[in-house]
Amino acid sequence: MNNKDLHCYVDLHLHLDGSLPQDIVRKLAAQQDISLEMSDAELKKILTVPLECKDLNEYLTKFDFPLKLMQTEEALEESIYSLLCRLDRQGLMYCEVRFAPQLHTRQGLSQEKVVKAILRGLAKVEESSEYTIRAGIILCCMRGDDNGEANSATVELAGKYLGKGVCGVDLAGAEALYPTMQFAELFERAKELKIPITIHAGEAAGAESVEQAVNMGAVRIGHGIHAIEDKRVLELLRKYNIMLELCPTSNLNTKAVGSLKEYPIMEFIQSGVKVTVNTDNMTVSDTTIQKEFERLKEVFEIKDDLYKQLLYNSVEAAFTTEAVKEQLRERIERELFVDNKGR
Ligand SMILES: [Zn+2]
Repeated sequence: MNNKDLHCYVDLHLHLDGSLPQDIVRKLAAQQDISLEMSDAELKKILTVPLECKDLNEYLTKFDFPLKLMQTEEALEESIYSLLCRLDRQGLMYCEVRFAPQLHTRQGLSQEKVVKAILRGLAKVEESSEYTIRAGIILCCMRGDDNGEANSATVELAGKYLGKGVCGVDLAGAEALYPTMQFAELFERAKELKIPITIHAGEAAGAESVEQAVNMGAVRIGHGIHAIEDKRVLELLRKYNIMLELCPTSNLNTKAVGSLKEYPIMEFIQSGVKVTVNTDNMTVSDTTIQKEFERLKEVFEIKDDLYKQLLYNSVEAAFTTEAVKEQLRERIERELFVDNKGR
């Protein structure tokens, strides 16, 4: 099976601010009269980590510039619209784009205005006959100790716009500094509102963080790679059919794993835990969903059956309706077994 020509990819873990391509960044800067007189190579240094990135802290500095550009309704609408158009051209049939509304209020926007601007951009893509991509928006709460009100507002907004473009909530940020348990009450409210929950866990902290996230109602786990260190946690993931949103290149960048060879994807699969493959931050990590699969295939034996299973896992785990999932499964079958042959 040739990755390149497939048009049935799914990405469930993709951050908007870390995934803006250079040309969109240049466009947003021009619209805001921010001078960007530099070469593409120089701009890349601002937006993308080198292969030998030091750690998560260096990784996180790459969000500064795109976030600065994404503080107006116009810029937010433009950024999600342009990104989804790009993803459609890259062969994605479905994706869930996440972002933290509270990081886009620096110029006075309310979180609700931020969310509404993003949903307008999403609607523009879905209404266009040019694009077939389907998408949902995940609102991220941020780990921290002085943003409780902002996090609560995010959860309430996720409840208000659930099914109207928003499909879930997440917890992102410095996992090692702010333990997952600290946010139990916040996610209690998300459960009350019946919002599907995914939580970044087991990336910069251990398996216990994954266990806490599951106990707090997460039905998917962002990364989760350290769960491999605790059989009990693996059993928990299996028991509740909780899927991991793996993001291999990002985990290499932040040194969550030392090398791709050490990446525990096969161990998870062998232990019966279902995994999905995702990009995390396309621009910061200089990746695409195709590249993620290609890199994995260079190191691991991912035969056609497993490849198909990984695509099916993403569909199963998606925060969308059964009707949409059925369409996505049909598209996988068409792409893998009919259309792709002629390409
Ligand atoms: Zn992430």
